[in-house]
Amino acid sequence: MANQHKQTRRTCVACRATTDKRALIRFVRVADKNPAEYAAERTSHKEAPSHQKNYSRQVQLDVSGRKAGRGAYLCSEKSCFEKVRKNKALERALRCSIAAEEYDQLAREYEQLVCESKSPSAAELARVGTVING
Ligand SMILES: [Zn+2]
Repeated sequence: MANQHKQTRRTCVACRATTDKRALIRFVRVADKNPAEYAAERTSHKEAPSHQKNYSRQVQLDVSGRKAGRGAYLCSEKSCFEKVRKNKALERALRCSIAAEEYDQLAREYEQLVCESKSPSAAELARVGTVING
């Protein structure tokens, strides 16, 4: 089949399925620190590292799909998220480690996004109900 139009296709890091970019959810590693900063932290080998207190999230859900940084795509299937959490495929794709609490946070946002894209009907049903009742 010839490719119709100019579809941007991306691969889900969990199941390896190639899908239209818009159907996938993008995760992005936000470049909040420059490499020099990281190197300094590693070589100085301080005991309680300050970044644990000032915890800033490195990986975020990119709803717009336009955030700068290394990105990885996942289907809007919860099973795919669970999969990458277990096999660390997302961490490999983004080349960073993701803390458990960060995963929890990402999972919440992911689920929210999945719910929104899969069932926009909740609001619609309410509206329809109103129409029928009125
Ligand atoms: Zn997938």
